[in-house]
Amino acid sequence: MKLRIGLGFDSHQFEEGKPLFLGGVRIESPCGLKGHSDGDALLHALTDAVLGALGEPDIGFLFSDTEERWRNASSEIFLREALRRMRNRGYSLVNVDCVLVADRPRVADYRERIRENLSRLLGIPKENVSVKGKRREGLEAGEGLLCICTVLLERTD
Ligand code: MG
Repeated sequence: MKLRIGLGFDSHQFEEGKPLFLGGVRIESPCGLKGHSDGDALLHALTDAVLGALGEPDIGFLFSDTEERWRNASSEIFLREALRRMRNRGYSLVNVDCVLVADRPRVADYRERIRENLSRLLGIPKENVSVKGKRREGLEAGEGLLCICTVLLERTD
């Protein structure tokens, strides 16, 4: 297959006092995201999108939350493993598109920093990294945040 598309989704509850990481960026916030690792929902969704495009096992299978070694781990480790598998299979990343569903903190305040960091982590130009913020407009209580990502991979060999 010349092209492969992938979809990833993740959601985490807020946890008071924990540092907040999104897209590998530390963001000023009174609460972070609950989880075994650093709770970076955006990197988890992105990792799953890459793995899904390849038809590989998902993030929960590869990095079980029952394993002590992933406690408070940087989620960049998970993304790097997905990218390693992608390259081994002869694919490269074309572009990524992410939707962060968060009532707080306001996505517009850190969107560009996330795009820049993802561009660096993924090794693709910032123009090929889209990050959009959406609010729930009062539909839910907003006790956490959700992230949805799509990726496009292209065969390179
Ligand atoms: Mg997660």
